Parts: sequence; C-alpha cells; structure tokens
Amino acid sequence: MAYDKNNIFAQILRGEIPCRKVYEDAFAFAFEDIAPAAPKHVLVVPKGEYISLHDFAAHAPGAMVKGFFDSITRVAAKLGLEESGYRIVSNHGPDAAQSVPHFHVHILGGRSLGGLLP
Ligand code: AMP
Repeated sequence: MAYDKNNIFAQILRGEIPCRKVYEDAFAFAFEDIAPAAPKHVLVVPKGEYISLHDFAAHAPGAMVKGFFDSITRVAAKLGLEESGYRIVSNHGPDAAQSVPHFHVHILGGRSLGGLLP
C-alpha cells in the first residue's frame, strides 16, 4: 500500500487545513483531536510519510524514531500529564479501526481512564 499524500494529517502537516497545534519540533507535530475521547486528547504525528507503526518502524531513520518518541513525552509533559498519567494508543490496520493512514499516536489523559478497552 502506497502512502496517500492527500490524507488529512498530511494536509495538516502542510498547513493546508487548520488544526489546534500543541507542539512541533524537527521530528513531530502535535495537535488536538477533533473528537476528543478524554479531557486531554492530542495526536502526535511524525514529519514524514509513514502509513502506520509498521511502516514507521521499518523505514524511519533511528534518529527520527527516537526524536518522535521523545516528542510524545514532551507533549505529555506540556499537557501536564506526566504526574497524573496518560495513555498512548496507536491503531494499525482494519481491526484497530485506523481511520487516517498517516502514523499517529493518541495521547489521552485528564481523568482516570479505567481498563484498557471499553
Ligand atoms: P485513528 O482512528 O487511530 O486513525 O485516529 C484518527 C483520529 O483523527 C480520530 O480520533 C479523529 O477524531 C481524528 N481526526 C480526524 N480528522 C481530524 C482533524 N481534521 N483534526 C484533528 N483530528 C482529526
């Protein structure tokens, strides 16, 4: 499967559609989820053309992988979640209902999140 350059997160990265930006560095861009599932719900996307976790792990340079995961912890800290806790989620493929084919990690927090799945 080829990367779709017109997916909605690619358009957000190119500044073609608006978002509520939370954080940006050389490796990652983070913005509020449009349909929050928790009081704090932010999406972190790498600045590169990666469809999902498998694609990212297989093809991103090591510095990008480290930089991206560092950015997740920076965003969580910026959201004030480091002490209270948070969950990261990344959906890969149909059974996980991945709806946007650009690798992304959800950061969810701001309340007790309960068990892993509803
Ligand atoms: P997933 O189901 O893991 O692919 O997650 C995609 C997420 O993107 C969902 O939680 C959507 O609410 C969110 N989303 C879709 N379009 C936008 C948008 N334009 N801005 C912010 N979040 C979005």
